[in-house]
Amino acid sequence: MKKPVSLPLLDQAIEAHAAATRAAHPSWPCAAGCDLCCRSLPFLPTISEPEWVRLAEALHQLPPEQQAEIRERTAAAPERGPLTCPMLSLESGQCRVYEARPIACRSYGFYTERDAGLHCERVTEAIAPFAEEVVWGNGEAILRTLREAGEPISLRVWMR
Ligand code: SF4
Ligand code: SF4
Repeated sequence: MKKPVSLPLLDQAIEAHAAATRAAHPSWPCAAGCDLCCRSLPFLPTISEPEWVRLAEALHQLPPEQQAEIRERTAAAPERGPLTCPMLSLESGQCRVYEARPIACRSYGFYTERDAGLHCERVTEAIAPFAEEVVWGNGEAILRTLREAGEPISLRVWMR
């Protein structure tokens, strides 16, 4: 049975963890404007229902030509990446739905799932000198919470 999930609470918990990580390690490379992860997704974003409700509202606020571009890029995206997220502005490198971006985008860079780091090689290299001290967020706990709201579904399916 689906359970309600509070996205604002999840957002706050993730942001607090990211802020604590940055405070402990000021050289942490994840920052606004770093869009390499948005340009090398393994597949299109998968999104739970409450995330989609928030995201759909943000998409509807975009100018019609941007909405059309995102629809076209989503439909044209391959099943497997690396691929560029359709919601990334190719000109500015900014997320067009930043305030409504999925939970996975918010936690990426600061969390791990089982033995796999949810971060890029840039993070791996930058933190190498202090890797043993890093307190990673629990990516599986986040996923479990989201799954209580329903299985995440591909952006491609939601956009249809
Ligand atoms: S995970 Fe990597 S690519 Fe993404 S913001 Fe952090 S440093 Fe940049
Ligand atoms: S939704 Fe935004 S933050 Fe997430 S991958 Fe796409 S462009 Fe990047």
